[in-house]
Amino acid sequence: MQHSIQAWGRTAAKLAGAIVLGVIVGFMLGHVLAGLCLVFGALLAWQLFNLFRLDYWLRARSTRDPPDVDGIWGDVITNVVRLHRRKRYHKQRLLRVFREIRQSTAAMPDGVVVLNGQHEILWFNRTAQRLIGLKRNADLRIRITNLVRDPEFARYLHTDDFTDPVMIAPAVGSDVYLSFQMVPYGGDQLLMLVRDVTRQARLESMRKDFVANASHELRSPLTVIAGYVETLGSDPTLDPELRPPLEEMRRQAERMTLIIHDLLELSKLDESDEELAGEPIDVPTLLAMLRKDLLSRASHPLVSLRLDSDALLLGDELEIHSAFSNLVDNAAKYTPAGGSIEIRWFSDSEGGHFSVADTGIGIPAEHIPRLTERFYRVDPGRSRATGGSGLGLAIVKHVMQHHGATLTITSVDGKGSTFMCSFPTTRLLRPRAVASLGS
Ligand code: ADP
Repeated sequence: MQHSIQAWGRTAAKLAGAIVLGVIVGFMLGHVLAGLCLVFGALLAWQLFNLFRLDYWLRARSTRDPPDVDGIWGDVITNVVRLHRRKRYHKQRLLRVFREIRQSTAAMPDGVVVLNGQHEILWFNRTAQRLIGLKRNADLRIRITNLVRDPEFARYLHTDDFTDPVMIAPAVGSDVYLSFQMVPYGGDQLLMLVRDVTRQARLESMRKDFVANASHELRSPLTVIAGYVETLGSDPTLDPELRPPLEEMRRQAERMTLIIHDLLELSKLDESDEELAGEPIDVPTLLAMLRKDLLSRASHPLVSLRLDSDALLLGDELEIHSAFSNLVDNAAKYTPAGGSIEIRWFSDSEGGHFSVADTGIGIPAEHIPRLTERFYRVDPGRSRATGGSGLGLAIVKHVMQHHGATLTITSVDGKGSTFMCSFPTTRLLRPRAVASLGS
């Protein structure tokens, strides 16, 4: 700043000197005005010349050195040079960062595709190109649903919930399972991550097949053993000493049959995670039947049925029966004599709810989040003694998934538990609506 004030001072002094010179020369020639015009003309020519040099250099600044001028023009040129260098430095830095980002995303083992709000492709990396078969220039600005033609993917893209990825089975002529996950960013843009999950999908399918096959294979020999045990047990000539071990064998065979039955049921439920449409189920009748069953089997606590809704439930009757009966059976298993059980069906603005509340042994809070895991038991000894397979709540969880429903467990250790299945309103049907459907 100081330097610039000095330069302006010097320029002003020079100008004043030139005017004085012009006046003197004009005076000597007898025409002061002519002398002044001469001086201003020369000054103007000098400024124009410097302007021309600056303009010339600016046009060819990448190949030429800046003109060597002093005074205020020198200052202007120095400032222009400084600005130009600073701009070039920032531009190169930005370019370097941009190139590094591009190189790192291009080298990522996951596919990355950038989509705009209309789901058109703006950019993709090499892995995405290989996994989805995109073409470098031809596929830019093309809607992703035109290239990934899968109804499941289209559904996923149109939901707003991108918390979990979606897995797509191989297209015809391919054996690659792909997982897609959307990450919204910067307004309405989407970053689509594509992953090859063939290995995990195969392992998962091998696990499912193995459980289903093993259970299936075990079923026949077990039926034979159970049959012989039964026959032996009913033989009147049997040594009385052999009766207790035989009775224990019968009970264990029964338990194994139950485990295999539940494993097979779970394998069937496991085949798909998709929601089922289903038929209208008369829940009140189903619950009345479950209650009757329970009362006929057990010397059991008070079982009350509270029906606060006559809504029908749209679902798979076998699956719903299995889930509800598992919950009712559990309530009976874990409620000692003297306790009570309440089975309830009600609806509110959020949907329909089936609940089973017992005054049984309850569940310590730390176990609740893990109850629906396969074979998870709060007290393994006790559960085995009650004859449970350890798969009941896993089955309930799967059935809920198939119906877009949720399972809520609340419990106070030592006081009792409540298991509630909540179904969305879209799964409820008023009986009147069904009557009009039938007519
Ligand atoms: P199980 O065949 O062992 O009952 P489940 O999957 O049905 O298997 O239940 C898992 C565990 O959850 C049980 O072992 C038990 O510890 C606990 N549990 C389930 N229902 C109840 C209940 N109503 N009261 C107390 N504990 C329960």
